[in-house]
Amino acid sequence: MIDVAPAPELTNPIDWMDTATCKGKSDLFFAPFAERPEARVRREAKARTICHTCPVMMKCRTHARETRELGFWGGESEGERAAAGFPPTTPIIGRRQVAAQRAARALEAS
Ligand code: SF4
Repeated sequence: MIDVAPAPELTNPIDWMDTATCKGKSDLFFAPFAERPEARVRREAKARTICHTCPVMMKCRTHARETRELGFWGGESEGERAAAGFPPTTPIIGRRQVAAQRAARALEAS
């Protein structure tokens, strides 16, 4: 059983998103509907490569963990975040819609 850390209050703004290397590439960072496992592996490998060139990777990872994001953030998949004790809080039903809304809000705010 994995110990799940409580989601802390957000203390940092998201101004780091201004320098995100993934701008305009959100298709690589959020799973399309009914994505096959092999396609997910390929998509996440491409996303990981981009993250590892990103100057704000650790800020992004911390943000995703604190806010229990869906999708690939800060060089981590949802599964990797969950294994680290930060699983998403969104039920499986409706995840795609929630992920799209969160991504849109993050882009608007950046
Ligand atoms: S670490 Fe990855 S997901 Fe986060 S801003 Fe950079 S490129 Fe985007």
